[in-house]
Amino acid sequence: MSRQGSTLCTVLPALGLVLNMAYPEAAVAQTPQTRTTYEVVDAPSCTNNKGETVRYIERSSGRSGIAAGMAIRDGNGNPVIYRSNYAATPPEFQSFIDRHECAHHQTGDVDRPLPPRNGAEYMMNESISDCVAILRMRDEDGYNRAAFSKVAAALRHEMSNIGFPEISISSRISNIDNCYTKYGSPQDFVIGILEQRGLL
Ligand SMILES: [Zn+2]
Repeated sequence: MSRQGSTLCTVLPALGLVLNMAYPEAAVAQTPQTRTTYEVVDAPSCTNNKGETVRYIERSSGRSGIAAGMAIRDGNGNPVIYRSNYAATPPEFQSFIDRHECAHHQTGDVDRPLPPRNGAEYMMNESISDCVAILRMRDEDGYNRAAFSKVAAALRHEMSNIGFPEISISSRISNIDNCYTKYGSPQDFVIGILEQRGLL
């Protein structure tokens, strides 16, 4: 598989599922709505498991109004994170997407073969990245319980907008809650993953 083929993205871990669903926002499209836009946050630092600095690049693509990130190597082989439509989602969730995508670089996902979409291994990688993201927000950015709740609420809002079923939403939130509550530092967590994968 080419490097370009290994794209990992945050808000749409279950793209196949999404494509099979009627787009629920179409039902409300007749009602003109003013879309809220937010300030775009500064990106956090990100270094991959090989010690390379990961660059963040803004690009307007994907479904309008849906904030999303993508972790990938660019045409020159440099590790990057593409940020799309971040202004469409609150700052807490923008921060979450950045750190989730960074985690795909930190854990070596980007350089490993992309597992079948929505398969067990794929979903595990998504859960791991969610976990690293919330641990960084807790330990590096001082996210307390109230701030955690804002992240969870934004995640719920975004996923439900896209059309994810309640079970997917609640299991994802329950995973990050579990990480936030029970796990140690993000560094230790990433080291554990890299050891498991033989990447250390
Ligand atoms: Zn992801």
